[in-house]
Amino acid sequence: QLRLRFALALVTGAGSGIGRAVGVRLAAEGATVAACDLDGAAARETVRLLGGPGSHEGAPRGAHAAFQADVSEAGAVRRLLDQVQACFSRPPSVVVSCAGITRDEFLLHMSEDDWDKVIAVNLKGIFLVTQAAAQALVSSGCPGSIINISSIVGKVGNVGQTNYAASKAGVVGLTQTAARELGRHGIRCNSVLPGFIKTPMTQKVPQKVLDKVTGMIPVGHMGDPEDVADVVAFLASEDSGYITGASVEVTGGLFM
Ligand code: NAD
Repeated sequence: QLRLRFALALVTGAGSGIGRAVGVRLAAEGATVAACDLDGAAARETVRLLGGPGSHEGAPRGAHAAFQADVSEAGAVRRLLDQVQACFSRPPSVVVSCAGITRDEFLLHMSEDDWDKVIAVNLKGIFLVTQAAAQALVSSGCPGSIINISSIVGKVGNVGQTNYAASKAGVVGLTQTAARELGRHGIRCNSVLPGFIKTPMTQKVPQKVLDKVTGMIPVGHMGDPEDVADVVAFLASEDSGYITGASVEVTGGLFM
């Protein structure tokens, strides 16, 4: 058992894939989960899987609860943090930003809109959530652990993903800087760089490409969302108390 009991964990992108697996794992470790997604029904479904009431309205104290928010909008993120604090009477001590999107196109043809949308959700969204959560923790004097989901693509690039690779590289720099600034407040910040993980996001990738990439993975198969959730749970817990500013790759050895 990890040292995570009594933690209140805010997870964005919790309605699917890695975010949902993170919610399930943190709850199994004894944390209370505030599951947030752009798709409110998907967030409620995650909470149902955890055994919570499904919506923050009317949720009994201490129960898991669902929240709807668009992380790319500053007002929505401020409201989200206010709602979570009102629901649980404390700020989240663990914050996991999993919300993310892709809009793939070759550089030569990528539209400004595809660039802007991916940067807005994947990079600005993480800035807004990290900042709002850190402000709430610092003003209440509570320690915390912030985990931002980047991608191995942010380190090595990927054809058709200039927007996504830039956003994910940005997440690493943002998180390292946050770690430097927030360490003295007792807040740790780490990023996780998954490789190719079986989720709705990678279901869009053509089978031919998946087969080619799988052939390059030393352990010989794609990862499961739970593989990422295991590492996130460790970084969320006090068992990783001396780790901050790290970028942990969860790739099965792809791109060492
Ligand atoms: P997914 O598509 O299954 O889940 C993403 C979730 O984010 C969805 O529920 C979606 O509704 C939510 N979301 C999208 N935009 C949002 C917004 N503006 N506000 C709030 N929520 C929003 O994808 P996934 O594979 O589980 O990806 C989770 C994270 O992991 C993403 O940041 C992704 O870039 C990253 N990642 C995934 C892989 C992979 O192979 N699947 C690899 C590396 C990194």
